[in-house]
Amino acid sequence: MFQTSVLASGSKGNCILVRSQETGIIIDAGISLKRIWTALDDLKIPRSIIKAVIISHEHYDHTRSAGALARSLKIPLMITADTYDYCSHRLGKVHDWLHYFEIGREFMIGDILIHPFRSSHDAADSCNFRLEHDHRSLGIVMDLGYYTKLTVSTLQSINTLILESNHDIQMLMDGPYEPNLKQRIKSEHGHLSNEQAVGLLTQVIHPGLKNLVLAHLSEINNHPELAHKVMNDYLQSIRSDICLIMADQYNHTRLVDI
Ligand SMILES: [Zn+2]
Ligand SMILES: [Zn+2]
Repeated sequence: MFQTSVLASGSKGNCILVRSQETGIIIDAGISLKRIWTALDDLKIPRSIIKAVIISHEHYDHTRSAGALARSLKIPLMITADTYDYCSHRLGKVHDWLHYFEIGREFMIGDILIHPFRSSHDAADSCNFRLEHDHRSLGIVMDLGYYTKLTVSTLQSINTLILESNHDIQMLMDGPYEPNLKQRIKSEHGHLSNEQAVGLLTQVIHPGLKNLVLAHLSEINNHPELAHKVMNDYLQSIRSDICLIMADQYNHTRLVDI
């Protein structure tokens, strides 16, 4: 068994569950602890299998309840040293649970292999992830301004991909944000647009890629229907049978078999 559910995703908070039979991992904890418990109960995931919380970068929408989660379950809080420096004030007392990882260096949690790899984002030390178990692999690619050769090469032969489809470029430019914020989102250190998500997918698509979850949609600069249409139009054009799933800010996705 190797499954994932995006418990929540969007600019107001991100949280992803990954599980094998015996090991559960929470990637980012940008929603309240209460919402994490509700989602896990709803999915019938026992809290006792959660063995670690792993943080991608220091932004509030990824770290909000990370300290509380580690303390509550008495599990390692896996984070890079630089990320910790930038968000320690938000995590509370986590000294007993603090474990550093380095971007580019793989580690195991239970029977799941985690490979954190560098992403381009306006954070101290941000990364994306590839996770492997039992010859299946999952990519988690969010909060990046553009994708690199490293992104593409690390995502080769993955079976399920959780991919940022943050904004529609026209909605962003026509929208209410201040010019400097628009520039930030659009920049190499910002977020992937719907079209960039398609661009990345074209680089990593292969017959073994079964599920694609679009995530981190902006509520202001995107519509779920639009992000879905842009990706779905591409998938239809190549007659792909990939299962396309939309992550949501307020509801968890179903458990997806990776
Ligand atoms: Zn984010
Ligand atoms: Zn971010």
